[in-house]
Amino acid sequence: MVKGIGAHMPTSKGVHKVPGETRKIGGNAFQIFPHNPRSWRANLLKDETARCFKKSMEREELDFNNAFAHSGYLINLASPNEENWRKSVECLKQEVRICHQLGIKYLNIHPGSHLGAGEEFGISQIQRALDEVLAELGDLGVVILLENVTPKGGNIGHTIKQLARIRNGCAYKELIGMTFDTCHGFDSGYDVRDKNAVDRLLKEIDVLLGIERLKMIHLNDSMNPLGSGKDRHAPIGEGHIGDEGFRVFLSFEALRNVPLIVETPGSNEEHAKDIERIKEILASIGVV
Ligand SMILES: [Zn+2]
Ligand SMILES: [Zn+2]
Repeated sequence: MVKGIGAHMPTSKGVHKVPGETRKIGGNAFQIFPHNPRSWRANLLKDETARCFKKSMEREELDFNNAFAHSGYLINLASPNEENWRKSVECLKQEVRICHQLGIKYLNIHPGSHLGAGEEFGISQIQRALDEVLAELGDLGVVILLENVTPKGGNIGHTIKQLARIRNGCAYKELIGMTFDTCHGFDSGYDVRDKNAVDRLLKEIDVLLGIERLKMIHLNDSMNPLGSGKDRHAPIGEGHIGDEGFRVFLSFEALRNVPLIVETPGSNEEHAKDIERIKEILASIGVV
């Protein structure tokens, strides 16, 4: 039995609709944006909205450990531009507060891009940001998940080593975990289709961060071949990872308790198909 399967869900009909919609597409886990991801604006929710959301979580019998939020696109904690960095930090704080309102424990972030200022500088910016956010809001108990990204545009966090370096230099390490995105990993040269490569990957995560810090898998296929660095997600089984690749990846016992979230093209309807396909893959390797 896997702990959770689901998709990134739209909140356009109201966040309280998400638990029911998740069940409708065959999921029991989900990810949402806590606010419009293309805007700096992140307003706190009305108490009534948060209450409604929690009620539907209960009604649909969903576990809060399977509920995730994904940070907005404008945030860049590694930014060398002080004004932009400050805006990013304040926006992330609002996202943490919104997660807390909803009872969502995990907030996934892309670590950030150094925009040419260099990896060392970028990592210190990210650490400074996370230290400030968690010093102020750590009491809320929201855990920040560092997601592995694609190696382009000065992105930091395309290797497990970089994610670990960020985390290990932070003051509130206990509130920092990680997400592994299969498309981004594949883009960065981690061959998730290959048993030995996955074995090495999971050992690396375990040694550098501790496998228990891996809180979510973004299960995405890739439109491009291994190491291409392009960040184009494909539906499950329709890309270069493929059904057989996911069969290998998902056969690892260490991943059994990590919720799988698809961020594949399309909306709920397509995601229902992705979830169905993941279930078939799991069934074919004896995991039901
Ligand atoms: Zn992702
Ligand atoms: Zn991506």
